[in-house]
Amino acid sequence: MLELRGVSRSFDGKPAVAGLDLDIPAGRTTALLGPSGCGKSTVLRLLIGLLEPDSGQVRFDGAAVRAGDAPEQIAQRRRMGYVIQDGGLFPHLDARGNMALLARHLGWEAARVEERVAALCELTHFPVDGLERFPGQLSGGQRQRVSLMRALMLDPDVLLLDEPLGALDPMIRSELQEDLRRVFAALGKTVVLVTHDIGEAGYLAEEIVLMRAGQIVQRGSLEALVRRPEAPFVSEFVKAQRSPLESLAAGEGEA
Ligand code: ADP
Ligand code: MG
Repeated sequence: MLELRGVSRSFDGKPAVAGLDLDIPAGRTTALLGPSGCGKSTVLRLLIGLLEPDSGQVRFDGAAVRAGDAPEQIAQRRRMGYVIQDGGLFPHLDARGNMALLARHLGWEAARVEERVAALCELTHFPVDGLERFPGQLSGGQRQRVSLMRALMLDPDVLLLDEPLGALDPMIRSELQEDLRRVFAALGKTVVLVTHDIGEAGYLAEEIVLMRAGQIVQRGSLEALVRRPEAPFVSEFVKAQRSPLESLAAGEGEA
């Protein structure tokens, strides 16, 4: 569905993505996992054509992805829903206005817009009475739901999510993780999810791509990463995300 072939991209002479080969299969959820600054967001921006690679190729459904505003590039980008890091909602538009912006721009009739908005509220468990609220009047979890609904408005083939749960407290985060898992399963779309949380990657994605310094270190299931690490970095990354049970066991060991 999505392909990167030998893709490199630098900023100010520093490589953010270095010679990346990556295939994203259709109809499944793939997580891009790795520490801050390893190039995850850059990969998403390359996939959707907001950034051009310095070298290499990006393809979507067999067609080259290019940055730019030619009609075919715009059409291609509209087949991908994108939730940017921190949501990116327009603060001066209410939830409905944020969701409906592009559909209205494309000339959808009001009834069709309303029907789609209502269906998405149901899908994402967003309260309909929140549609008139502005982003600043919504909770963090509700804002993330609006960002997700906005990305889904045009029923894209691909959904790209950049740390959609990054700034939420643990209870809200876990609730939204459950909702996302349910939504991904219900929609059956191709999803690429960026996260730095290995538990979240394992919970939401069938396949994990662990990155470091613009390159892929290991790709596979959560189980493969935990039980069959292919590089010392993989075990270090797994170990760095300590679970509550592990902390408890360590405390009991000292007692
Ligand atoms: P991640 O999402 O994994 O945290 P990014 O893809 O955002 O990482 O960034 C990878 C590297 O590229 C970082 O060193 C970051 O500072 C740099 N970078 C990303 N985007 C830009 C940009 N627009 N201008 C300059 N440097 C950038
Ligand atoms: Mg990022």
